[in-house]
Amino acid sequence: MKAQVLEAFNQPYTLRTDFPAPPAPEGYEMLVRVLAASYCHTDAVFASGAMQQDLPRVGSHEFAGTVEAMGTEAEKVAKHRGLVKGQLVGVPGRAFRCCGECAECTDNGGDEPGYGVWCSRAGNLGLSRDGGFQEYCLVDVRQVARVPEDQNMRAVDVAPLMCAGVTVWNALETAGVDVSGAGSGNWNGKGRSIAIVGAGGGLGHLGVQFAAKLGWHVVAVDTTPVMDMLKEVVAELGDDGANVTVVDALKESVEDVKKRIFGEAPKGREGENGCDASLTLPESQAAFDFGMGVIKNHGTCVCVSFPKDGWRFKPGDLVFRHIKLLGILTGRNHQLQAMVNFAAKNGVKAKIRRYPLERLNELVEDYHRGVGGKLVVDMTLEP
Ligand SMILES: [Zn+2]
Ligand SMILES: [Zn+2]
Repeated sequence: MKAQVLEAFNQPYTLRTDFPAPPAPEGYEMLVRVLAASYCHTDAVFASGAMQQDLPRVGSHEFAGTVEAMGTEAEKVAKHRGLVKGQLVGVPGRAFRCCGECAECTDNGGDEPGYGVWCSRAGNLGLSRDGGFQEYCLVDVRQVARVPEDQNMRAVDVAPLMCAGVTVWNALETAGVDVSGAGSGNWNGKGRSIAIVGAGGGLGHLGVQFAAKLGWHVVAVDTTPVMDMLKEVVAELGDDGANVTVVDALKESVEDVKKRIFGEAPKGREGENGCDASLTLPESQAAFDFGMGVIKNHGTCVCVSFPKDGWRFKPGDLVFRHIKLLGILTGRNHQLQAMVNFAAKNGVKAKIRRYPLERLNELVEDYHRGVGGKLVVDMTLEP
């Protein structure tokens, strides 16, 4: 079968047409015919050698495809989750064949019994095991998301939700957003407010859509190169776009932004002015400073990435302003499923660019040029 294989770090992928197909699935394994596979920043980090994992490796830990075959245990899980052969599923990287014994697997927040997304003994598709840049992939039935049949979601729209989507969904939930949708409705100057720093990136532009459609006021912060794309995302939100204030951080300081949105704070009450929470998505000190500065006292700052050498933060923000600083990585399987259901129902979609599998290296070049949106391999495209 066809596969794009990373054979050496800092080298292009090699297209193989004779790559061995996966063996028949056993236990909790499920064989998926890949239809779309998305490229994540972590693929770039992996390819640079910084993660020190084994090669050769087929990348992509966010993909989608149809169910082809299942192991015996997988069939039991599939039955009660309503998964059938031929059905479209979304596949995140975590967690393939987890141990079932550790604290992650046994105290798992309501996922399948014995299944832990953060089990350190589990395989991670696209990183420690082969992922989605191939025609067929062996996955764990417990890691996939069922794609609602009635919403006509395309595989190319499902794939980017599997890492970027679930990560930003978990970040919003961690920041205090009620993801059940109970708080939905227009902001109208009331209710709660969240700043998304890096709002024009892969995670950010999905987060803006989720948060606005969940009825929160969104302060969407990014810089000049992606402003047009960000404004397009907001325009496509229709009425929910009224929940979003777009900020170009190169043109407005954090103090100016707070003044513009929340008005001039009365003397001695400055700490009351600001967002309830913020998500900091880019790997930069400036983004982190903005994310910490834009929230009011007692607020929550959630981070999903950080500069290689770490951040400098002011302990006074934690001690005197009582800011909660939290970090997250991906999300549980029930969060993944809730996110896919919400995206299907509400039309949340990444801005995508599609490439045939044969042109993966072109995709990677475009990624490093910073073309924006999510770059997705579409297996149905001719080379
Ligand atoms: Zn990722
Ligand atoms: Zn475990």
